[in-house]
Amino acid sequence: MVLKLTENELRHIFDVMENIAIKNKAPVFNLNFLKTPFQHLVFTVLSSRTRDEVTAEACKRLLSKAGSPEELEKLSVEEIEKLIRGVGFYRVKAKRLKDLSKEIKKLGGVPDTYEELIKLPGVGRKTANVVLASAFGKNAIGVDTHVHRIANRLGIVSTKSNSETEEELKKIIPKDLWIKVNKAMVGFGQTVCKPQNPLCDNCPFKSFCHYSNFNKAHKPR
Ligand code: SF4
Repeated sequence: MVLKLTENELRHIFDVMENIAIKNKAPVFNLNFLKTPFQHLVFTVLSSRTRDEVTAEACKRLLSKAGSPEELEKLSVEEIEKLIRGVGFYRVKAKRLKDLSKEIKKLGGVPDTYEELIKLPGVGRKTANVVLASAFGKNAIGVDTHVHRIANRLGIVSTKSNSETEEELKKIIPKDLWIKVNKAMVGFGQTVCKPQNPLCDNCPFKSFCHYSNFNKAHKPR
């Protein structure tokens, strides 16, 4: 059964997640080196299926050589591969970044609407929403594995895919909060509600969290 929470309870949960993530120095709150929408886009493309610390290091290496679409387009795919080696699917991503740079140069900048963003090569739903929120300050919910996992563990949704989670979260979370959902949940997932061995004993949500209560009820006595 899905947990029904009031608007105020949801606001409180995201505030608490954000505070915990900041206090625990979650990597997602340490991205001040990203200065432009293009750099946010590059980071988000690199981040899929890659540990956050590895993404940050690879992104810094790449941006130190090429921080704009014009500069990145001038690099060969092999040069990009070398700079981002370590991230998941780095060969595919190197080619994708080169294509993206070309397209963005043509457009004169990173578009700031969902419809235009998802037309870019290799940009899907999650990347478009994360960029809208992080680079343009727009109300969008980027759902990655952290967001999907935590929303289902808590029991605020009961979904099978990231896109289903996005749709359900949009129904229950007040629109002005959307912008902070991804960062708060990713940071909380990096530091407390980890994919393996979540730190439930120290979690402020353990009294109502479905996952924690299920595990407690099924613990061998
Ligand atoms: S109680 Fe455990 S599973 Fe539930 S949100 Fe907290 S850390 Fe995650």
